[in-house]
This record gives sequence, structure tokens and C-alpha cells, in this order.
Amino acid sequence: MKKKKKNGKLFIVPTPIGNMKDITYRAIKVLNKIDYIASENYKITLKLLNKFNIKKKIISFHKYNEHKNTNLIIKKLKNKNIALISNAGTPTINDPGFILVKKCHKKKIKVVPLPGACAAITALSASGIPSNKFCFEGFLPSQEKKRCNTIKKIKFEKRTIIFYESPHRIKKSLKNIVEKLGPLRKMTLARELTKYWESIKLQTAYYFFKKYKNNSLICKGEIVLIISGYKNKKKKKISKKIKKTLYILKPLLSLTKTALVTSKIYNIKKNSLYKYLLKKQNNDKK
Ligand code: SAM
Repeated sequence: MKKKKKNGKLFIVPTPIGNMKDITYRAIKVLNKIDYIASENYKITLKLLNKFNIKKKIISFHKYNEHKNTNLIIKKLKNKNIALISNAGTPTINDPGFILVKKCHKKKIKVVPLPGACAAITALSASGIPSNKFCFEGFLPSQEKKRCNTIKKIKFEKRTIIFYESPHRIKKSLKNIVEKLGPLRKMTLARELTKYWESIKLQTAYYFFKKYKNNSLICKGEIVLIISGYKNKKKKKISKKIKKTLYILKPLLSLTKTALVTSKIYNIKKNSLYKYLLKKQNNDKK
């Protein structure tokens, strides 16, 4: 009886973002074992394979043939194992692969992700900016109007924001960040991560704007921007007039209602008024 051929698997294999030592044992093992490599760039992949003495057939898979070659790869995955790799870092993170992975799920083909290098996460981990909540925005748009709109949209985002940036645009982007988020917004600029000229600095937006404006040398290299989230520092002071209203209403209404009515009259947050009343009440009791 003929043996039924096993279904293949798609392995998502991260590759180094600069330092070639940042490839995992498992990544090398998988690349040695699979049947094909779906690669974003033949030359870059060949260099990597040569470095680790791996010989494999390469299928081209980049943003211009992603749709067409997804079908080809899906067909091969019927009985072959394939590794998806990009030029650097984790495939599908601002790199081709999402369509392929989605189709694998649809066709019930197993997708096996390997953990590994990713510029966004590497930069975040060393940024000195809160990393417990963050959002990843990919590249800032190249068109100025769109770029400004994107920056405007994230102005009040409280989570840490991550952008990838190109060296050709960094000066313009920093100018727009200062204009839209203000000169004092804290951010970390991580450049050439894991490479010889690696630099990771936490400063204000204005510091980077000024620094990059006059230095074209540091504008070279790959960049990740980690922008600190919006902080609502200004606590609105409770004015004498508002306090007077609170004192008039307090004997007539409950604390919650006093805060609510006053907040409606003066268009300020109910919570701050309620907290103020509660504190006052506790102090009065002492
Ligand atoms: N898939 C990749 C990953 O996992 O990070 C990202 C690919 S995206 C096309 C390339 C961008 O990632 C660069 O323009 C840069 O913003 C960022 N990047 C990649 N390598 C970097 C490095 N060594 N240092 C800083 N940024 C890097």
C-alpha cells in the first residue's frame, strides 16, 4: 500500500539584523532540514546560507511577487517543508509573508514561528521608555502630508509608539515630530542595532532634530524610533469659583452628584472634583 504523504509546514525563520551571530541554533537546524527557502532577496539569502554552510533551493518571495508566489508555495507545502526568511529580522514584520501565512491558516497548513531578531523589539528593550504597553506603526509615510497626519493621529496615544525610519527621511520626520508632538516629547533613537556603529539615545525630540539637522553622517544607517506615550501632566486646578459652587451644592446633594453637577457647569472632569470633595471630607473628620 502506498504511504500517504505528510503535509508540509511553513517555518517563519528570523535572521540577524546586523550581527551575524544573532541567528539561533534552531534557525540553523530548521534551515538545514527544510526542502525550500522562500526568500525576499536571493543574494542576501545566499550570503547567509554560505556563512552557515547551508545548501538549499531558493524560491523568490518579495513584495512584487508575493501574491503570485503565495500560490506556488502553498502547492509545494502539500508535501514539502518551507522556511520563510526576509532580508533581516522577523519575516512578516514590515516584510512580505502575511498573505502566505493567512493562506496557510485557510488551507490548514501548520505555521511554525521561530523566535529571533526583530529591530522593533530590540530597540524597545533598550529604549528606557515603558515597554509594557506599546504600538507598532511600521514606517512613517514618505509623503509629508501623510506623515504629518500619522504623527498627529498618535499625538494622544498613551502607549509607547514604535516607528521604523529610513535614513533618507529621518531629518524631515524629526522636524515633523517636533512640530506635531512638541519639542519636549521624550524619544529613543536606535541606530545600526547590533552593528559596529550601534547607537541608542534617549532624549527629547528637539535634541534629535537639532543634532540631525547639522550632521549628515549620522543620518546614515538603519533607524528605529521609540516615542514615549502621551502624558497628561496638566492637572486642572480647582479655582475659587468652582470651590464656591461645590460648597453651595454639597449640603444639598450627595458627593457624587455635587461633583457631577459642578463638572457639567464648568466642563471639567467629574473625577477630580469628586476626589477633591472626598479628601476635604476626610480632612474635616480628622
Ligand atoms: N522584519 C524586520 C524586523 O523584524 O525588524 C524589519 C524589516 S523593515 C523592511 C527594515 C527596517 O527595520 C529598517 O528600515 C529599520 O527601520 C529597521 N531596522 C532593521 N535593522 C535595523 C538595525 N540593525 N538597526 C536599526 N533599525 C533596523
